[in-house]
Amino acid sequence: MAKFFAVIPAAGSGSRIGKTQPKQYLSLAGKPMIYHAIHTFCRAPRITNVFVILSPDDRSWSQHDWSEFSDKLVALNCGGATRADSVLNGLKAIPAAVTINDQDWILVHDAARPCLSSPQLEFLMNEIADDETGGLLAIPVADTLKRGDMKHRAISTESRENLWQAQTPQMFRYQLLVNALNQANTSHVTDDASAVEALDRHPKLVLGDTHNFKVTYPNDLVLAELILQKGEKN
Ligand code: C5P
Repeated sequence: MAKFFAVIPAAGSGSRIGKTQPKQYLSLAGKPMIYHAIHTFCRAPRITNVFVILSPDDRSWSQHDWSEFSDKLVALNCGGATRADSVLNGLKAIPAAVTINDQDWILVHDAARPCLSSPQLEFLMNEIADDETGGLLAIPVADTLKRGDMKHRAISTESRENLWQAQTPQMFRYQLLVNALNQANTSHVTDDASAVEALDRHPKLVLGDTHNFKVTYPNDLVLAELILQKGEKN
């Protein structure tokens, strides 16, 4: 039986949020942001281990107490220049830490998506577990899409038909994901699925939930705090 492992890339600087601290450590509902995703994965019965990929010069991780997750959590200080580099470095470091098979599942999840709920995670795993390619949580685009010019003037309106916003987790077999990221141009790839698509595979789009947004701008922190405090992510 294939096992399930989570990989949480957390080696970004989070410059768009405009704070001096990396965003994955900003305080959210009384905990560092990354705590919330770790908690959701560690309490999922089918997840064997959770790997957090940190920057080699991370100074914040060790300032927090992670002992409540010690049965599953492994921190790897092998983050790279881009998200894709961080994920690939992490995947390559896993076999030295635990036994992993080529067909085991990897769920890659952004540290900056603290509001992933346990039912959403279970739904994704159930939908993908028998899939030959893998897949991801995603939401059909709701807004009208404008193409702008350099002066921020709308020059055309794009069709939103069949367009989805990709979220995470993104779930692929270990060897397929390593192959895909090895062949990708990691400075252009912004998620794992696009590297798999480049191998001419078609990841399954599993309907996600708007609460699982990526905290990117200062206002996002307020919304995430509300969702977490109300316990609405569960
Ligand atoms: O910057 P962005 O919000 O797209 O980052 C998505 C996720 O990828 C975050 O959890 C971030 O910490 C991680 N990341 C990383 N290594 C990088 C850049 C981003 O692990 N070099």
